Amino acid sequence: MAHTLSSAGRRIAQRARSLNSSAIREILKFTERPHMISFAGGMPLSATFGLPALREASVRASHGAESFQYSTTEGYAPLREWIAREHSDSQHRVSPSSVLVTSGSQQAFDLIGKVLLDPHATVLVERPTYLGALQSLSLYEPEFVSVPMDEHGLVSKALESIGPERAALLYLQPNFQNPTGARLSFQRRRSIAEIARRTGLIIIEDDPYAALAFDGRQVPSIHSMAPDHVIYLGSFSKVLAPGLRVGYMIVPRVLEQKFVQVKQAADLHSSTLSQRIVYETVREGFLASHVLRIASLYREQCEAMLSALDRHMPPGVRWNVPEGGMFVWLALPEGIDSEALLKDALAVKVAFVPGAPFFARDSLHHYIRLSFATAAPEQIDLGIERLAALINAYSRVLTPYLATDLHR
Ligand code: PMP
Repeated sequence: MAHTLSSAGRRIAQRARSLNSSAIREILKFTERPHMISFAGGMPLSATFGLPALREASVRASHGAESFQYSTTEGYAPLREWIAREHSDSQHRVSPSSVLVTSGSQQAFDLIGKVLLDPHATVLVERPTYLGALQSLSLYEPEFVSVPMDEHGLVSKALESIGPERAALLYLQPNFQNPTGARLSFQRRRSIAEIARRTGLIIIEDDPYAALAFDGRQVPSIHSMAPDHVIYLGSFSKVLAPGLRVGYMIVPRVLEQKFVQVKQAADLHSSTLSQRIVYETVREGFLASHVLRIASLYREQCEAMLSALDRHMPPGVRWNVPEGGMFVWLALPEGIDSEALLKDALAVKVAFVPGAPFFARDSLHHYIRLSFATAAPEQIDLGIERLAALINAYSRVLTPYLATDLHR
């Protein structure tokens, strides 16, 4: 038996060897323990799912046998039309033919890897970036090159100096980035669109958090500025329910057929029933008011987290002030190892995600990602207080070493 296992293990293909299971999935196992205060998951609060609307839509969607039948690879036509309308305005019309429904937006990374990445192709990513994208794209064996970012998102000037013309792709998130919470400024979106048009760079604009803006302000997408150069990814996971696994890509016309072919090869099509449930839920305009409710709830939870951080964190800890989404990105004093901190935090029933896996290379170990989406405000305060006490203890141990360093 042992012999069979080890010889099968040796047959794992090169591309799968370095794949690890996502750090977040591993941590989520702990968060199910009783009384855990979890800032770890990237999942939405289940109370935001709008269950009555989903239930009614499910009944309507499951009337006919066709909801349980195979369906087209491109996706359910009325849903594709709805998505195309949502992304169209007077300046910029999206055709339903450029919309491909995917099994969560996560599937899009895999399809993009298949269509656009040869081994060793250069993929530009934000520093830090969404680890699920790194995990999925890494199966196509690219070389990741990180582009710096600040509180206004990816630094477009730095992109220029990295040499975008030699890259196969640039992957970025324009709104309330996972993990830093940053929103890319309008000016930078314009510069990045201009660079793409000038150099032929293809951009993956991954945008699952756009609707969760606390100020309700929508900054135009890069897709609307350079539709022939952008693959736009959208998702119903954060505004409706992630278990439905319905996301979508809007792709440049020249790539439409190729994406349909690889999607067909991958899974024939996404769940017929899920797509119809989504369509039945959104068709009469349910989302417009629903996302406002979610955003205002998350805003309250975010404010609770920011004020708890202000109250409890020792000097030397820095964080961003998000304008939407789900995440706060915390910089600890350098020298504190966030993985060691996590072990101690789990012991006092607080969970978060250490920052290292969000870096494509040269990981920094003194960052952590905190989600404010799933914990209630009073829990948030208690959890941050416990975390701050630990960081304080770590800082005290560190101080003599830091002081000696300064003397050298
Ligand atoms: N992109 C980002 C930035 C995400 O945070 C997530 C989920 N955490 C996804 C894509 C994938 O989401 P889904 O497959 O549920 O649409």
